[in-house]
Amino acid sequence: MSFNFYMPTQIISGENAVKANADKFAMGKHCLIVCGRSSAEKCGALADVKEVLDSHGIGCTVYNKIMENPLMSTCYEGGKLAVSVGADFIVAIGGGSPLDAAKAIAAYAANPAIAPEEIYTAALAPSLPIIAIPTTAGTGSEVNLYSVLTLDGKNVKKTFKSNYSYPRYALLDAKYMYSLNREYTVSTALDAFCHCAESYLSPKSTEHSRMYSVMGAKKLYAALTEIAAAGADADMRSFDGLRWELLTGSCAGGIAINTTGTGFNHPLGYNITLYKGIPHGRACGVFMEEYFAYNARKEEGARLIAEFCAALGKTPAEVAADIVAWSDVNVKLTDEEIALYIENVKGAGNYANAPYVINVDEMKEIYERLFK
Ligand code: NAP
Ligand code: FE
Repeated sequence: MSFNFYMPTQIISGENAVKANADKFAMGKHCLIVCGRSSAEKCGALADVKEVLDSHGIGCTVYNKIMENPLMSTCYEGGKLAVSVGADFIVAIGGGSPLDAAKAIAAYAANPAIAPEEIYTAALAPSLPIIAIPTTAGTGSEVNLYSVLTLDGKNVKKTFKSNYSYPRYALLDAKYMYSLNREYTVSTALDAFCHCAESYLSPKSTEHSRMYSVMGAKKLYAALTEIAAAGADADMRSFDGLRWELLTGSCAGGIAINTTGTGFNHPLGYNITLYKGIPHGRACGVFMEEYFAYNARKEEGARLIAEFCAALGKTPAEVAADIVAWSDVNVKLTDEEIALYIENVKGAGNYANAPYVINVDEMKEIYERLFK
């Protein structure tokens, strides 16, 4: 069987990965640090990065305006800022939102003449280089080319992807996740698990990508089981030892989807996030039972689902039930909301990326079964 593999990000993981790899930051005279409002500071990564930049005499500007589900306009503004401060490179610190935003900012900075929405269509000059430092174990954005942007005023997400978007370095240190609360720890792990499952079933999957899917899924499922068993009141610091497992698992999921992309949980989930405020991972996980059920209608789908779940030592029913329960989504939708949601996401490319391709009527069936 032939296969292709392209993931040019250098991953460096370990305790104190930032300070231990200070030499990697010598990429120019000025750096734009892209992060969210408080997580980079809270987790200690911002202080570590500033110390390393100081040690090289590199100036920096902190752009901490990235909100969850980053808006295209915030990224465009970040691109303008990068140009005005003369940034030579970007350090992205955060969950998927700042990491994804940094990829768009790096592209806007290198292509100052384009209008915001032209990021999807213009022939782009190479982006500014990025160092990515994840503070959640979920998206795997640190090792892929995807930048999921929310279009201003539209409640629609559209993915920007360019081969220039891969971070040059991904510096992984699990200690940056110690400050992540239970809600986001579980949600981001569910996102990563969905990446592994959706990637495994993709017709674009390869023996390599499926290996990453299984590796990630095993670690994530085991960690989620442990966190669920400890109950909602457990002290999150008692899971410090699990953070490496979660981070290695989410990174593996990020590598898997880099080859394949994701399936229908993602676009159907975007609506639940943008309109109902359910974090991304839980909004994807809630569809897992439906995802398995539709794909099992095809022989190839049933075979892949059985194989994936067997690797976890579980039946498909057990896996789907756990993921849906851990997602814990209790929203109700009206007919009008369902019609609007389908209109928003029916054009996504994700549906074709599975053994069974759902149609618009089936999207309606799914939303109705889960949320009416
Ligand atoms: P996120 O939106 O980056 O962050 C969620 C929340 O967690 C924010 O409030 C953030 O605070 C906080 N947080 C992050 N790290 C923390 C830490 N160490 N300690 C305390 N709080 C912390 O979450 P995410 O789930 O990682 O990213 C979701 C985004 O990624 C979505 O837009 C989704 O569409 C996208 N995504 C991308 C890919 C990809 O392949 N590139 C894949 C799946 C999803 P701050 O606001 O202060 O930062
Ligand atoms: Fe995701």
